[in-house]
Amino acid sequence: MENNVLIFGHKNPDTDSICSGLVKERLNKKLGKENCKAVRLGKLNKETKFILDYLKLEEPELIESVNEGQEVILVDHNEFNQSAEGINKAKILEVVDHHRIANFETSEPLYYTARPYGCTSTILFEEYKVKGLEISKEEALLMASSIISDTLLLKSPTTTEYDKKALEELEKIVGIDIKEYGLEMLKAGTDLNDFSAEELISLDAKSLDKNGTKFVIAQVNTVSIEDVLKRQEELEKAINEEITSKGLELFVLAITDILNSNSEIIALGNKVEAVEKAFNKKLENNRAFLEGVVSRKKQILPNIDKNI
Ligand code: MG
Ligand code: MG
Ligand code: MG
Repeated sequence: MENNVLIFGHKNPDTDSICSGLVKERLNKKLGKENCKAVRLGKLNKETKFILDYLKLEEPELIESVNEGQEVILVDHNEFNQSAEGINKAKILEVVDHHRIANFETSEPLYYTARPYGCTSTILFEEYKVKGLEISKEEALLMASSIISDTLLLKSPTTTEYDKKALEELEKIVGIDIKEYGLEMLKAGTDLNDFSAEELISLDAKSLDKNGTKFVIAQVNTVSIEDVLKRQEELEKAINEEITSKGLELFVLAITDILNSNSEIIALGNKVEAVEKAFNKKLENNRAFLEGVVSRKKQILPNIDKNI
């Protein structure tokens, strides 16, 4: 393990973080870079479990921190506060990511591939093409699953022509109806019943820091916003505990309806007016309905960040 280059996505891993890690490991091995290993920084969500079950793949090993000098490759993130403990002392060899660049620096040169695409796997798909590597069925389904997850089956405004083209080509390699598979996969991820409120608000939570102002934007996918809101009281209790224990100024939970492409947000903290300004809406009962909003990266985060 120590000699291996560790490949991982962000904390509270989503499908792109896990599947792009697994794909990057396979891609590097095809290039003769054998000593690398995909690992994860947290518990898998049910959507990702569905994919690994489907492919009969083992969960990547869980790590929480990296040692000083550990060689690593980051996928699907770059911000240190979303990465492994100790990342500032690790040796980052490479980053493959589709997010803004912030809270990131290295002391040595590195490979950095950033593309404003809908998904990290779309960037990896291009890497296969550029290097002339063949894509196996397994690799194709891992990448297709990431693209489906990050773009909500190409419906999110983060979707680019590159994601569409990649998914189209990957569908041919996999040889299954990708819409049917994708809907089943997304639905598997919306089964939230056996998660506690604490788990639910941290399943897909991004910690952010703007000039020392710490805030979190968390997101859960559902096929019924109403169902999730039945738990509003316990969710708010969990959010308030998180605000106190982490010294946050704001916590936003976006409950996203993946079928109708809308979100309801719950916002708590000292800086909720940043949310009201961001969407030009008054919160009622700590909530607001955001029509047509599904993307944290493109629609929620930048608007709130501007108003913090
Ligand atoms: Mg991600
Ligand atoms: Mg991603
Ligand atoms: Mg996501």
